[in-house]
Amino acid sequence: MSKINFCPRCATPLTSVFDGGRDRQSCPDTDCGFVHFGDFSIGCSGVVLRTEAGVNKALLIQRGQEPFAGTWQLPGGYVENDELLSLAVEREIEEEAGVTAKVTDVVAFRHMLGGPSSNIYMIFRLDYVAGEPRYDSVETADAGFYSLDEMATMHGVQNISRWGIEQAILTIPGSGLTLDTTGTRMPRWQVFGLTDANPEVWRQH
Ligand SMILES: [Zn+2]
Repeated sequence: MSKINFCPRCATPLTSVFDGGRDRQSCPDTDCGFVHFGDFSIGCSGVVLRTEAGVNKALLIQRGQEPFAGTWQLPGGYVENDELLSLAVEREIEEEAGVTAKVTDVVAFRHMLGGPSSNIYMIFRLDYVAGEPRYDSVETADAGFYSLDEMATMHGVQNISRWGIEQAILTIPGSGLTLDTTGTRMPRWQVFGLTDANPEVWRQH
């Protein structure tokens, strides 16, 4: 776990405190109370499918910058600290590829240790709404809709992107985790769960 020496809130030197079964760096200032649980980050990406001549094609962008410049991936990025995840993925797709799309459900996620932070990477499925793929030649070197067959001949398509696209193509839209709109939620909360898009799958009680 990443180590920090000073409290990010009040700059007091941190001390080690046994908390929740392990030693954690903590702020000795009791008014502050900061505890360092480690660095976490959340990424999101979207599978936007469009049918061309009866073939399912997914929106991909080619990275223009390191790391992994030149590789192809689903459009996406990091979620801002004060931003809802489903809005972040719609924003990233618009920014990176110029395509407007609307979240339908979550098809997969990856949890990855070993990077600079413990990272959760959510893969959403979105309905295509409008816009033709574009790229800025800086952050993105290219963008377009591609079939799985076309991806097989392209160099550097990221495995996690291809896997997410397969998940989306092989399942019914809405069969993944969807935004629950029936319950009463706290402001600024979103809850995703399995729905009765297909009532057959629900057990009878
Ligand atoms: Zn502090």
